[in-house]
Amino acid sequence: MNERATLKINADGHLTIGGADAVDLVKQFGTPLYVFDEAHIRNMMRVYKNTIDSEYNGNGQVLYASKAFSCMAVYAIARQENIGVDVVSGGELYTALKAGFDPQKIYMHGNNKLLSELELAVDSKVGYIVVDSFREADILDELASRRNIKQNVLIRVNPGVEAHTHAFVQTARTDSKFGFSISDGAAEEISLHILSKKNLCLKGYHCHIGSQIFEKQSFALAADKVMDFMAEMKIKLSFTAEVLNIGGGFGIWYNEEDPKLKYADYAEYLKVLIQAVKNKAKEHAIKEPYLVIEPGRSIVGEAGITLYTVGAIKEIQGIKKYVAVDGGMFDNPRYALYQSKYSVLLANRADEKCTEKVTIAGKCCESGDLIAVDAALPKAESGDILAVLSTGAYNYSMASNYNRNLIPAAVLVKEGKSEYIVKPQTYDDIIRNDAVPEYLK
Ligand SMILES: *Cc1c(COP(=O)(O)O)cnc(C)c1O
Repeated sequence: MNERATLKINADGHLTIGGADAVDLVKQFGTPLYVFDEAHIRNMMRVYKNTIDSEYNGNGQVLYASKAFSCMAVYAIARQENIGVDVVSGGELYTALKAGFDPQKIYMHGNNKLLSELELAVDSKVGYIVVDSFREADILDELASRRNIKQNVLIRVNPGVEAHTHAFVQTARTDSKFGFSISDGAAEEISLHILSKKNLCLKGYHCHIGSQIFEKQSFALAADKVMDFMAEMKIKLSFTAEVLNIGGGFGIWYNEEDPKLKYADYAEYLKVLIQAVKNKAKEHAIKEPYLVIEPGRSIVGEAGITLYTVGAIKEIQGIKKYVAVDGGMFDNPRYALYQSKYSVLLANRADEKCTEKVTIAGKCCESGDLIAVDAALPKAESGDILAVLSTGAYNYSMASNYNRNLIPAAVLVKEGKSEYIVKPQTYDDIIRNDAVPEYLK
């Protein structure tokens, strides 16, 4: 249960999220169901924005990294909170634009952006495109030239800092499909290349050092490396970078191994980062850059839960007990992909003591289709409602129609009231793009 009051247990012993009873939500919307607490999403956006405003004179911008959870409503919330977004595909960009998002506040990422994606980005006048290859720089310059505009760009660099949950390592070279390494001269080379382009305007640098990071110094260290590089480019190329985009990666609570951070802790991440940026600017006698951060997981992760109905229960004597739910890897592939550990509880009996450890299985035809192993629960029965916590990030956005299961709907809860933000799929949606050649009919 997190301390930021998204989740509570009411007098009926039911789990509540954002003031709504999970059992009532299931009665109204069915399962499986993604549920998001709007207040938590907004609060997280505000913590980051307010900290940049108060500690850095507002000389920067928070971008919601929308690959964590992309749908039109979430861009509408970001718009109301006066922050920007980053997108990593034409689909995310299209969704943001359709939600009425100001293109100037959109940053576009991707290690292999398609021509069609670059065209959409340029034509819709996105604020910044983060260049990740020489080829992309050439294509972009050509597109901008044909439209007679100058496109603002950043360069994605690898500072040689790899962050992991509780530690970070410094490496001379980063083996990554993303970005240009600073240490081997690639970042300097692409800088020179872009500066020679008539229709590109190089504004600065971007890096993203990892995800689910708790070590505060990681971000500061990355900023140190990129700012050293910026100072070097000023001397060598007479190029003054104005923008430093340090990416996202702030960690969240999933299970008992993770810290439960308070809002103040997230502000503290930024304070440490901002101090490092100020120190480096002073050390190199360069202007303090416009500071951009891109939190995704930490904005929506703990805001979301998934509700399922328990179906088949199978006990293999002396080995383990499987509790199967009506969802699985098609709505949450993260256990199958990374063996991610989630916390679960029975939403209709949230006040009862846990008496057994079970494996939560999905309904897909894969043995690896699990949601949690060794999950402590009261003795679950068919018909109970299982809640999986901290599923707001990288669940819906990674969902698929595997086995032709329907991707669950998502509802947004605000002060106890709930509304769809993603409507339920139907079987007709599933066959919508199927085509049967004449000779097969
Ligand atoms: C994924 C990603 C983010 C967001 O990372 P989180 O761990 O979700 O905060 C930010 N920037 C870039 C470039 C990314 O690829």
